[in-house]
Amino acid sequence: MANIGYIQMVRHCNQNCGFCSNPETPFFYDLEQVRTIVDDFVTRDYFGVILTGGEPTLSPILTESIAYARERGLHVRMITNGQKMADGDYVKSLADAGLQHVHISIHSCKHRLEDFLTGTPGSLAWAEQALHHLSKTDITVNINTVINRYNCDHLHETVEWFIQNFPFVHHFVWNNLDPSIGRATSNQYFTARMQDLEVSLSKAMRRLHETGRSFRVERVPLCYMTEFAHCSTETRKIVKSEERIVHFLDNKGTVRQTEWGHLYAAVCDQCTLRSICGGLFDRGDAYDPAELSPLFVDPRPIISRIALDEQSDPAWRLQKFKNLATLPAAHQGKQGAYRATSPSAPSGERLVEPTSDPKRRQDPTARDWQPEGWHPADDEVDADYAQSQAQVPAPRPVDKVDAPRGTR
Ligand code: SF4
Repeated sequence: MANIGYIQMVRHCNQNCGFCSNPETPFFYDLEQVRTIVDDFVTRDYFGVILTGGEPTLSPILTESIAYARERGLHVRMITNGQKMADGDYVKSLADAGLQHVHISIHSCKHRLEDFLTGTPGSLAWAEQALHHLSKTDITVNINTVINRYNCDHLHETVEWFIQNFPFVHHFVWNNLDPSIGRATSNQYFTARMQDLEVSLSKAMRRLHETGRSFRVERVPLCYMTEFAHCSTETRKIVKSEERIVHFLDNKGTVRQTEWGHLYAAVCDQCTLRSICGGLFDRGDAYDPAELSPLFVDPRPIISRIALDEQSDPAWRLQKFKNLATLPAAHQGKQGAYRATSPSAPSGERLVEPTSDPKRRQDPTARDWQPEGWHPADDEVDADYAQSQAQVPAPRPVDKVDAPRGTR
């Protein structure tokens, strides 16, 4: 299996996203610890490692860590907001160290909104400069987007913006907001309902598909994935029996995730995709199983598509799909009804009922809050604002970044 491990290099950040799932802690890994973790991934026959954070470019041992992981044969990736990569020399130093792939987190093509989401004026302009520098290297680039209440209506516009301005980007990852951890637990207003994101996500997926690009979507149940169920992160991991290990720099410590099912409603028992669906993520106050509706389609083409999909993921290794042996017989290509049966469904799920708490729907502080200093109508002046941001200050030089304040 193409397992990939995660290392949170640091937990501080140079931006301040209101929905950050891994907000600041005073901890960081030193090089010896990183080497130990990398060695463990190699022993487990992992395909690669993703260096993340906080903001991993704030780690003073980033280049050494990249070089060591590459030396040990891992595919070396990094998730970053791109701010420090607006410095071309810094990008070159990471490429020289052996970095192979970057996920840049960009949530909207609208500058003012991106500034609001990241809590950082000029964040999109910096990310644009980073993309410009990366386009001149061999480092491949994905775009990571957290789906939230403020960008969920123009995911397709953001995709089009990338196609027009950065055509070399060929893979996109959407992570639906997790309001149960990090800053989003107190900033519940960032959470979008499924019905809010459905249309734009569908347009965005179709646009990427028709232009030959690829994408993954996490924390969106299959009943909102239209014809792209095979692009669900959870479904792919269920079918391929993948796991992932994350070394958190907080009290979660090291987590090995092997189960990909979230929450399911009673209607899911009628759904033919139940055994390969991740269900509805625990969405805090916004969680509403009433938004789920069972599907009555054959899961076998979805499973086959995942099994034969060799094109879009550099982590792909065509090995045996041990999970297929445990899926219902129909999923293994045998004749018969394809209705999923509950014993084969992802385990670890909880069955829940739709909310009866009217406050979830009516409390203006929970659902109708608007951020101070920003209103959706402001998007109309976004072009002017982008122009005014053309001369954004350069990011701080690498050698002047503050050292982390403690060790784990
Ligand atoms: S199992 Fe439930 S969440 Fe998944 S597609 Fe079916 S109805 Fe939707």
